[in-house]
Amino acid sequence: MLDLSLAQARAALRARKLSARELTGAYLSAIDSLNERLNAYVLVTPDAALAHADAADASLARGEQGNLTGIPLAIKDLFCTRGIRTTAGSRILGNFIPPYESTVTENLLRDGAVFLGKANMDEFAMGSSNMTSAFGAVTNPWTRHGDNRPLVPGGSSGGSAAAVAARLALGATATDTGGSIRQPASFCGIAGIKPTYGRCSRWGVVAFASSLDQAGPLARTVEDAAILLGSMSGYDAKDSTSANVAVPDFAAACARGVKGLRIGVPREYRSDGMPPEIEALWQQGQQWLREQGAAIVDVSLPHTKYALATYYIVAPAEASSNLARYDGVRFGLRVDGGDLGELYENTRAEGFGAEVKRRVLIGTYVLSAGYYDAYYLKAQKVRALILKDFTDAFQHCDALLTPTAPSAAFGQGEKMDDPVTMYLNDVFTVPANMAGTPGLSVPAGLDAQGLPLGLQVLGRPFDEETVFAVGAAIERAAGFSARPSILAK
Ligand code: GLN
Repeated sequence: MLDLSLAQARAALRARKLSARELTGAYLSAIDSLNERLNAYVLVTPDAALAHADAADASLARGEQGNLTGIPLAIKDLFCTRGIRTTAGSRILGNFIPPYESTVTENLLRDGAVFLGKANMDEFAMGSSNMTSAFGAVTNPWTRHGDNRPLVPGGSSGGSAAAVAARLALGATATDTGGSIRQPASFCGIAGIKPTYGRCSRWGVVAFASSLDQAGPLARTVEDAAILLGSMSGYDAKDSTSANVAVPDFAAACARGVKGLRIGVPREYRSDGMPPEIEALWQQGQQWLREQGAAIVDVSLPHTKYALATYYIVAPAEASSNLARYDGVRFGLRVDGGDLGELYENTRAEGFGAEVKRRVLIGTYVLSAGYYDAYYLKAQKVRALILKDFTDAFQHCDALLTPTAPSAAFGQGEKMDDPVTMYLNDVFTVPANMAGTPGLSVPAGLDAQGLPLGLQVLGRPFDEETVFAVGAAIERAAGFSARPSILAK
């Protein structure tokens, strides 16, 4: 039952061959047996899940079917859930219980989804390995051939990705500020899309870098991700950057095919240090699309080399400003001091982890008088050039194909000594955040050690349909059916 895709499970629920209670029960037992090893969930809510499953069964019995009626999901702990603890992976939010529901999770509930619990994540979504969570690391359900050492699931949506890959959820919500949906999707052998900035409401999503943050789904197939995005998306007056555009039928777009499409291959993504296996998979992806009738064209995104450096100015700058609200006064952790200043200092010193402190310091520095023009303002100008690169490239092609990440999953504790080594993970994903364009990671193959590798499809703003069409074509050709090592026995 746990191997059914979301689309298959939905069909079985609608045909009443399967009840939502059975399906949710099966997922809750899987969580019982594997979550201790994976640490993918920081909170499991079995009673609420079963109550929602029963309500789903009752509506299915009445012939009422929402897009997701009875579908069990994991919710990244960055989304506020009414009455259910929401921590952003940080000690500073302590026992914060939101009195309101984020718009994205509200939309999912409206469509009948069942929430299994809250997924682990890097603290405040800052990271690429899920090593910075206050709740401890998440373990990737995949291991290398003949080597049991634990690997990272990627980050920051590592709990969501590990849960979906290990069959502890049928799908999950995630967020992507610089790659946090696509990189963990690639590391865990699943699909994930960061839609166009503005497609999903940010209301009720704990803010990291507001001009970059975007919610999106993680799922085991491209079509499943499309089905989930259909429910998550939509205009929301409560988010001033929410786009008032129609939500198309993303799932239908998966069947369109790629005949006649022009797929750009950006030459700047061909980095010197790229492992040969990733380069080969990228070539293979181009071949798969050619075989299905697409034309492959060479394109240039000349400012790519500045994207990572620019991101690591803009994102910390916005984070330092967003995180100023965690002062111990109105909610979350409070550590008292002799006066108000000391209360702030003690609370923030104890509440934030090392990576979050590093970002706040960098962000405060690049925004401070005298440095603002040299760093933040300059970065904003480069950001405009990065966007222009994409606009120019999309004059010549309908979508772009790149690798998702420069490596497969690495070991827990690796790349921890030098933050820049960790930041380099994001080299292929951050440009789409800087430009606000959609990006999908599709599981496309395994490396020689048996670890999954993803290919990334980038598209024009608000043209997720073409992105899904191309992604589904790659998925069909790749026929990726390998299962995580943890499920082998
Ligand atoms: N790894 C990137 C960072 O640490 C991106 C994180 C994200 O997308 N939330 O900032």
